[in-house]
Amino acid sequence: MKYAIISDIHANLEALQAVVEDAKPHADAFVCLGDIVGYNANPIECIQIIQKLCPVTVVGNHDLAAVGLRPYDDFNPYAQQAIDWTKEQLSRDDVSYLAALPMTAPFGAKKNFMAAHGSPRHTDEYLFQAFRIQANFMYMKEAEPDILCCFVGHTHVPMIFEFTSDGILLMVDKVDAETILLDVTSTYIINPGSVGQPRNGDPAASYLLLDDEAQTITFRSVPYDILAAQDKIFDAMLPMPLAERLEIGR
Ligand code: ZN
Repeated sequence: MKYAIISDIHANLEALQAVVEDAKPHADAFVCLGDIVGYNANPIECIQIIQKLCPVTVVGNHDLAAVGLRPYDDFNPYAQQAIDWTKEQLSRDDVSYLAALPMTAPFGAKKNFMAAHGSPRHTDEYLFQAFRIQANFMYMKEAEPDILCCFVGHTHVPMIFEFTSDGILLMVDKVDAETILLDVTSTYIINPGSVGQPRNGDPAASYLLLDDEAQTITFRSVPYDILAAQDKIFDAMLPMPLAERLEIGR
């Protein structure tokens, strides 16, 4: 089976629609790594699409903030304003849906793949530093010994972390469109990048395709109508820096 792994949609409908269109010819199913809402102007539309599209979806920190399950005074002021605005938009059903999403979810024919938002062990952990990544591989060894690859989002940067059977940690942050064969003797943590607010310097929406039988992944970068998404941020009176950052992908 082929999966499209998408993350950090952040209420960007134009980006989500472009990714769905790009993935549909290749993917049998969609998996969502959380942060459906926050930052951009179409939270309800994005929830409706994800609800139908993704039988496997985990919760993100912005989703938790938007439904009152996480304080958000540690978010930057623009992110806080976007959550305040999002809370006013969500219906009771939207809130119930987001609030019921799990923190992690195994998937795949052999259930050896896992979806999480921040890291395998925590929704809110950013995986930038090697010691944190290493600690998460140790955690996986103990708590999730059957998982070959845990997919995470949260940093909005496409990344591959590989922990080899010799105990060596490999980190790849320059991903390209080539198909990569996973080594079944290693363990992986892989980030597909962000659909709705990329931060890797490429403004195109980012996601990846997984073939769980062939054990291959392919990163995809999809241009979308950024101007339309920016106009909606303006019309909703959300902070303008949230619109500006979309065109630089930072
Ligand atoms: Zn996010």
